[in-house]
Amino acid sequence: MRLEKYLVLCGVESRKKIKKAILNGRVKVNGETIREASVDIEEEKDIITYDDIIPKKKKLSYYIMYKTSGYITAMEDKKDRVVAELLPDFIDKKSVFPVGRLDKDTEGLLLFTNDGDLNHLMSHPDYKIEKTYYVKLDRDISSESIRELERGVRLADTKNFALPSKVEYISSKEINLTITEGRYHQVKKMIKSIGNKVLYLKRIKFGNLTLGELKPGEVREIEK
Ligand code: URA
Repeated sequence: MRLEKYLVLCGVESRKKIKKAILNGRVKVNGETIREASVDIEEEKDIITYDDIIPKKKKLSYYIMYKTSGYITAMEDKKDRVVAELLPDFIDKKSVFPVGRLDKDTEGLLLFTNDGDLNHLMSHPDYKIEKTYYVKLDRDISSESIRELERGVRLADTKNFALPSKVEYISSKEINLTITEGRYHQVKKMIKSIGNKVLYLKRIKFGNLTLGELKPGEVREIEK
């Protein structure tokens, strides 16, 4: 395994900081300073130190939560209730973090992990991971508005444009909307931009993950 990857799996720092630390001579393999991140190591045999401490490979964990309304996506907050409160006691709350964010009043699928690489992959717009939201609308949606969403509307109150999205029509006031970005209030701003309003928002799919049998407030462990 590459030295850099091994240290990422130990969770000592972010990948970027690890690369820098290796370059700066803070990492040793069998007592010898190694300044090349791509060097191959054998984890059972070689002794790796980071700032002269031997880091341990951590277990990577993944959980899907069915977030309910009224909780902000944070692990702690002075004012609001936080999603960490919905995590069962057997999960070490210091070891996982939510991937991306759902608004306080948004429900649905929220992923938790301690896997920094997966977090990057699922969150960075370059990877175009699809997120599907069930949206209840205030007013009937026209076919012209659906086409606008599909083409990529301007995000209300901003100068930015959304990338093209997929719209599945359910009824005149309900759609499933699939986007590949995760800008602040993205869905609400897209819907505002077509002269409508979100009354209820629930994320039903994130990449290939779905809520399955989960009930509101429940959490399920999943394999990578
Ligand atoms: N878009 C929003 O506007 N809110 C969310 O919580 C998620 C996507």
